[in-house]
Amino acid sequence: MTLPDHSHTDGAIVLFSGGQDSTTCLAWALKHYEKVETLGFDYGQRHKIELAMRPTLLQTLRQQYPEWDSKLGMDHIIDLSLLGQMSSTALTENVAITMQENGLPNTFVPGRNLLFMTVAATLAYRRGLNVLVGGMCETDFSGYPDCRDDTMKALQVTLNLGMATHFKLETPLMWINKCQTWQLAQNLGGQALVDLIRTETHTCYLGERGELHDWGYGCGTCPACQLRARGYREFVTPRKQKA
Ligand code: ZN
Repeated sequence: MTLPDHSHTDGAIVLFSGGQDSTTCLAWALKHYEKVETLGFDYGQRHKIELAMRPTLLQTLRQQYPEWDSKLGMDHIIDLSLLGQMSSTALTENVAITMQENGLPNTFVPGRNLLFMTVAATLAYRRGLNVLVGGMCETDFSGYPDCRDDTMKALQVTLNLGMATHFKLETPLMWINKCQTWQLAQNLGGQALVDLIRTETHTCYLGERGELHDWGYGCGTCPACQLRARGYREFVTPRKQKA
């Protein structure tokens, strides 16, 4: 992966929830930009475990990677409880995770990523940052329309027209699967980053954090756990076979 030409002048804001994907995106941004700030949203998620992991993750990254410590700036938390007020989905209420008639799981919060990126742009404008980094991915997600590359490209145009800016929306996970996301973490921060993501990030929809599996904590049966576990197994299998 080559560094952008203007990396020495670019500053990034990373949508950082405390999950596997956003932690990998944060490491990616710290590798590519000189100044990086983080942004988390509190929107009445059923389980706040992800958000609770954020300070530990940030602190550990600072300790383990001194070269990243100097680049890592402010951490912002924005209250988006209005999202929970407006939408009734499995992520914000205690209902079972099912498929809806339109083919999308009821974990889909309509417009969530559009809102997240727009808020990130508003904050980045104020903070003098020109790159917005998010973990949207088309590859093995549930077909969420606001994770699509076209959606993000269109939003970039819209935000720049609407704010008279030159923001770049970067989505380093867009075309890779979960196995490759683990591999990206390995490339960026070595085994220490893989281990940090494995043990300190949270993905489980049900907020289960009792048992540590080889791929991390979680119930092991919800769609998010299954995706994460399958990706991790693919990631470690060839290495085991070679050993
Ligand atoms: Zn789970």
